[in-house]
Amino acid sequence: MTKPVFRFAPSPNGRLHLGHAYSALLNADFARRFGGRLLLRIEDIDITRCRPDFEAAIYEDLAWLGLQWETPVRRQSEHFADYRTAFLRLRGRGVAYPCFCSRKDIMQAVACREAESGRDWPRDPDDAPLYPGTCRDLPAAEAERRIAAGEPQAWRLDRAAAQRLLPGPHAFGRFDRDGREETVAAIPWRWGDTVIVRKETPTSYHLSVVVDDALQGVTHVVRGQDLEAATDLHVLLQALLALPTPLYHHHGLVRDPTGDKLAKSRQSQALSELRADGVTPQEIRRRLGF
Ligand code: GLU
Repeated sequence: MTKPVFRFAPSPNGRLHLGHAYSALLNADFARRFGGRLLLRIEDIDITRCRPDFEAAIYEDLAWLGLQWETPVRRQSEHFADYRTAFLRLRGRGVAYPCFCSRKDIMQAVACREAESGRDWPRDPDDAPLYPGTCRDLPAAEAERRIAAGEPQAWRLDRAAAQRLLPGPHAFGRFDRDGREETVAAIPWRWGDTVIVRKETPTSYHLSVVVDDALQGVTHVVRGQDLEAATDLHVLLQALLALPTPLYHHHGLVRDPTGDKLAKSRQSQALSELRADGVTPQEIRRRLGF
């Protein structure tokens, strides 16, 4: 029987905090209990925000916590060609279109629709307004002309085209701490026409994560609840790309005393600061319930 494959996939755009430690330790704990392998993946597609010193700190923090992972580590920035291949496959299936809108264009279009209808415009699970569709029906010749003229373009998933192709119902398997599995429904359509290739980077989180999980043979994804809704979209991308769907476990988030989830952007205390304050890895494990 093949061994289960787990992965911890941090982005080196800040210092790891207790929330990352929890996710990494939980992955390692599952891998140990299920007799599986543990991979580490560096999710550094956002070359403007990711930094080598943050990446070095990830290795240092995880080693300090006592974790071991297989090498070589997959660094996403070294694999843009893989994401391009997947993107071209989506394009070939007719479920991707170029979008030239800026954030401001989208906000303005949404405000217009809201003013016209007197109703709130629908939002995706991340609370962003659904794309109002401005570029969806651009004539192909116009899109090609704008691309040829060097106008920056993102590529969006054509939700309606995808739904015609793969109406579903879609679902994925979820597992709990004891390994019990159940099937849950996935509703990718609530994401609207999501960006699958960004203007500033030739891929997106959603596209890279499904490509990498498949290429690395990941069978069990353990990650925070904040990514649970994204799984619906990942299931659809896997189906469109004929990739296997792993099993998922979305864990609760570590919160600060005020109840907010820890975040790099909120300057949550870094593991390296806790270490400098004399906190030991054993104390971290205990604090996080391991
Ligand atoms: N890179 C993502 C993060 O740091 C995690 C992605 C995943 O586990 O699917 O939040």
